[in-house]
Amino acid sequence: MSATHDVPAPYDILFEPVRIGPFTTTNRFYQVPHCNGMGYRDPSAQAAMRKIKAEGGWSVVCTEQVEIHATSDIAPFIELRIWDERDLPALKRIADAIHEGGGLAGIELAHNGMNAPNQLSRETPLGPGHLPVAPDTIAPIQARAMTKSDIEDLRRWHRNAVRRSLEAGYDIIYVYGAHGYSGVHHFLSRRYNQRTDSYGGSLVNRMRLLRELLEDTIEEVDGRAAVACRITVEEEIDGGITREDIEGVLRELGELPDLWDFAMGSWEGDSVTSRFAPEGRQEEFVAGLKKLTSKPVVGVGRFTSPDAMVRQVKAGILDLIGAARPSIADPFLPNKIRDGRLNLIRECIGCNICVSGDLTMSPIRCTQNPSMGEEWRRGWHPENMRPKESDSRILVVGAGPSGLEAARGLGLRGYDVTLVEARRELGGRVRQESLLPGLSAWGRVKDYREAVLAELPNVEIFRESPMTADDIVEFGFQHVLVATGATWRTDGVARFHTTPLPIAEGAQVLGPDDLFAGRLPEGKKVVVYDDDHYYLGGVVAELLAQNGYDVSIVTPEAQVSSWTVNTFEVNRIQRRLIENGVRRVTDHAVTRVGVGGVEVRDVYAGQIRELDCDAIVMVTARLPRDELYLDLEARRERGDLLSVRGIGDAWAPGTIAAAVWSGRRAAEEFDATLPSNDEVPFRREVTQLA
Ligand code: ADP
Ligand code: SF4
Repeated sequence: MSATHDVPAPYDILFEPVRIGPFTTTNRFYQVPHCNGMGYRDPSAQAAMRKIKAEGGWSVVCTEQVEIHATSDIAPFIELRIWDERDLPALKRIADAIHEGGGLAGIELAHNGMNAPNQLSRETPLGPGHLPVAPDTIAPIQARAMTKSDIEDLRRWHRNAVRRSLEAGYDIIYVYGAHGYSGVHHFLSRRYNQRTDSYGGSLVNRMRLLRELLEDTIEEVDGRAAVACRITVEEEIDGGITREDIEGVLRELGELPDLWDFAMGSWEGDSVTSRFAPEGRQEEFVAGLKKLTSKPVVGVGRFTSPDAMVRQVKAGILDLIGAARPSIADPFLPNKIRDGRLNLIRECIGCNICVSGDLTMSPIRCTQNPSMGEEWRRGWHPENMRPKESDSRILVVGAGPSGLEAARGLGLRGYDVTLVEARRELGGRVRQESLLPGLSAWGRVKDYREAVLAELPNVEIFRESPMTADDIVEFGFQHVLVATGATWRTDGVARFHTTPLPIAEGAQVLGPDDLFAGRLPEGKKVVVYDDDHYYLGGVVAELLAQNGYDVSIVTPEAQVSSWTVNTFEVNRIQRRLIENGVRRVTDHAVTRVGVGGVEVRDVYAGQIRELDCDAIVMVTARLPRDELYLDLEARRERGDLLSVRGIGDAWAPGTIAAAVWSGRRAAEEFDATLPSNDEVPFRREVTQLA
């Protein structure tokens, strides 16, 4: 069948329908289940988010994992629940929204098994054996080995959840056995399953629970919905699920479900950041499995390139292009390919800020797509904005992520925008950081916005144009957004020290801005001091090691780049530093900088020692570059102009995601009548009293 729209011929194949049980998709774009930190707490926000993806062309849109029972409770994380009928209105709202958007709605039913600490329900966790629950930071407790009667219970709970999913209107109902988050996975994996009964030992026994849940689901569904199975294809850990296991599962059960959804043995293994894995990293584990079943298969790989997608289909690796992150960064990715607007694809940069939302129990956010999570709360849309409300002309100073996004938003709304940038290159910090090891994808934040701006005739860009308040007033600008960024400090102030460190005269002290400007330390031995705890400290150490320096990295935390536990990078970062020969001096703060060495202190016991070095590079904290903002604000008070707003790092240094969001917010709020800031600035749902 040929595509219904004007698809550039090479991508036709992506717009072919695929049959999944009783349904047929409109194309091959499939938003696989993904967490979003909204779950049961923010169901309407989630519904709006999922609907927009369906509108953007994802022919299947799924929920995240949905806990089927109070013994599958992964508090404090916020996912969906289908514990009883009372959860159905929220689930129905999500299914309805996906249908309104034009997609098929999938629900991922999950029993988390020994991965559920049950901190809310206080039920005993259930697993194949007596083993500690998996999220070791949540509760120091163990799961109990399930008896046959526990297994009977689990099967009944799953059936109940299937029945309720049909009632809520879902078209595709999952049996979940992936990511180490599911009892099915634990039973399959010899690492956890050492049972000697009919559910342990041989592969046939280890897959018995999966077979039973699939058969139960198929019987319960009775042709009214498609049945999907999400399964681990490789656990990447000693004793875990292997290729041989998954091939055996497909030989035995390959024809049972209507769809196979292939995943890795951990979420971390599926959502690797661009710093550590390329697009399509799963291919080596998934290739060849499709031929073991006649049913369609879906898989992920942070696919943003239509050519890579076409290859997956043509090479017979996947039938459906699965995506979580690419659909978060660009909910309209399918439609943009369909319409030949490839240059306007907002490519995921692989930073995992989206993941950090879920892991910090906060609503999802995205570096590339500032409307993610704000669709219902603030009424933001990834592609559209309300038209301008006046003929105001707006100056945006600084073309980093916040300035670029503000110019994009205001330009889209139809305002006349002038964007000025001191340097020749646009992009600010994302351009600078994209030149560091592993961070080239950061450049996509700039590339996407440059592409949009190039199509907006009402936005003028002036490069190599540093502006002062006098220039701005002289040119007659009445409305100014100041996006001038921030400067890295080199005085040691950050989290551990809130006042400057003693630094000896003649000591060689550098910061990231020196490295961005191409200045490297003199000498051979360098100490990097990471009191920022996000990625940059580790990246700087890697850069210096690659440039031949003898590098030690000192941090008051127990791990370098400790916050990256929330982006699934912390373990990979330690490994990469070790591989690069970087010495990690953890649990220590730099307390004095001398010539030829620094003094460091153990943060627990207070012992002091010296580390020899020729230079120190501080990756600590930043100061907003806000002189221009302050000057303009003073001029505004004098009546020289009408409005001034600081945005992004110039207002408060933060993540790239925060800067982009701030630019978007300023564009949304220009000319808007805003409620007083005594009010909650967004819509929210409040628990209804019983
Ligand atoms: P953010 O993350 O908030 O977008 P960045 O530091 O990435 O901030 O970007 C700030 C940009 O502003 C940089 O590209 C910088 O060169 C530019 N800039 C700073 N001061 C001025 C100025 N006075 N006039 C024009 N451009 C400026
Ligand atoms: Fe991609 Fe980063 Fe957005 Fe996640 S937050 S979807 S990784 S750009």
